[in-house]
Amino acid sequence: MNVLVLNCGSSSAKFAVIDPITSQQAVAGIAQRLGAPEASCDWVIDGTKHSRPIPGAHHEEALRAVVALLQELGLAESIVGVGHRVVHGGSRFASSMRITPEVIAKVEECVPLSPLHNPPNLLGIRIAQELFPRLPQIGVFDTAFHQTMPPVAYTYPVPHDWLDTHGVRRYGFHGTSHRFVAKQAVVQGQFDPHDHRLVTAHLGNGSSCAAVRDGLSVDTTMGLTPLEGVMMGTRSGSIDPAIIGYMATATGQSEQAVIDALNKKSGLLGVSGRSNDMRTLEQAAADGDVRAQLAIEIFCYVLAKAIAGLVVPLGRLDALVFTGGIGENSVLVREKVVGLLPFLGLTIDPVSNASHGRDRAGCITTRTRPQAMVVRTNEELMIAMDTAEIVQRG
Ligand code: ADP
Repeated sequence: MNVLVLNCGSSSAKFAVIDPITSQQAVAGIAQRLGAPEASCDWVIDGTKHSRPIPGAHHEEALRAVVALLQELGLAESIVGVGHRVVHGGSRFASSMRITPEVIAKVEECVPLSPLHNPPNLLGIRIAQELFPRLPQIGVFDTAFHQTMPPVAYTYPVPHDWLDTHGVRRYGFHGTSHRFVAKQAVVQGQFDPHDHRLVTAHLGNGSSCAAVRDGLSVDTTMGLTPLEGVMMGTRSGSIDPAIIGYMATATGQSEQAVIDALNKKSGLLGVSGRSNDMRTLEQAAADGDVRAQLAIEIFCYVLAKAIAGLVVPLGRLDALVFTGGIGENSVLVREKVVGLLPFLGLTIDPVSNASHGRDRAGCITTRTRPQAMVVRTNEELMIAMDTAEIVQRG
């Protein structure tokens, strides 16, 4: 049994065929640079990379190319359902859902909350429905896991009608990853599934942390949009909101232009003036680049403050879980962040920290309770598992 997992962005469509029971990935790939002459469909099977040009292809032609590929590979017949990543489900979805016209209408209602992501997600759903008319389609929402947050965590201290009339509240993102790694951490750390307190730190190009109590998200750092929270690759994370109006006036730009700069030119890139990529910055910092050093210091400092803050709703900490490209790979970031949190009972074990990572999950502190650990995320597998479960439920 296989599930086709689709993640459609504005100029790309990621796909994977996964067996949700064995976790085996038959193929994973991306159709990218869509709409451009250099558009291509790239995929990996058994560690070998393949690529096929699909010049000028838009989403529809790209997904047709994916279907043709799955047929060539003999995988098409084994697929029992299609799982779609949907970025913003607002308050309308607390779990993954079979896609129906009502579900599509609700996702459309969330477009103003995520104008860049929800439209391509919806496009992917529409095309997949046409290409796989007999297969169930399942929506898996980045926001759903955080719907268990209590009002004290999701309500902003702003005029109340902003929430009632415009839905202004904390929604949180990366929910599929936080949910996946929290489950893995409970198994790895041998915690009680009904009594555990975790902070999960998903650190990639976009980063967020969540407080997970007994399997449920009780608070998170991202908000109405994925701009809030900790410092990221190109996003500022939380700043004084008055900066937006101030900089718009000071530079004669629109507020939207300033917000674009907070999304695309800030974070690690903004501070370092060099790159949004942690690997590049670690190298530059080691070579003596002062702004790269500062960017990494701020990244870790802001992160440690956020992690400590998330222990408030938990009341105690059993584990701090690092995941995502930076969390799984950066020995330096993990060491610096844990080094700022001795009062939580965390002390880094340099040998374990250096030896654990993407391919070897595990504890990186001297004690196991509380502990810091590395867990590799797998959002595609989580989507495949949700899809299979809903398909089997009928
Ligand atoms: P996305 O959020 O786009 O899925 P990833 O989760 O792949 O991104 O994370 C990308 C980040 O992970 C980049 O900043 C990259 O530099 C960082 N990263 C990947 N490998 C390493 C490494 N070995 N050391 C430090 N950072 C790394």
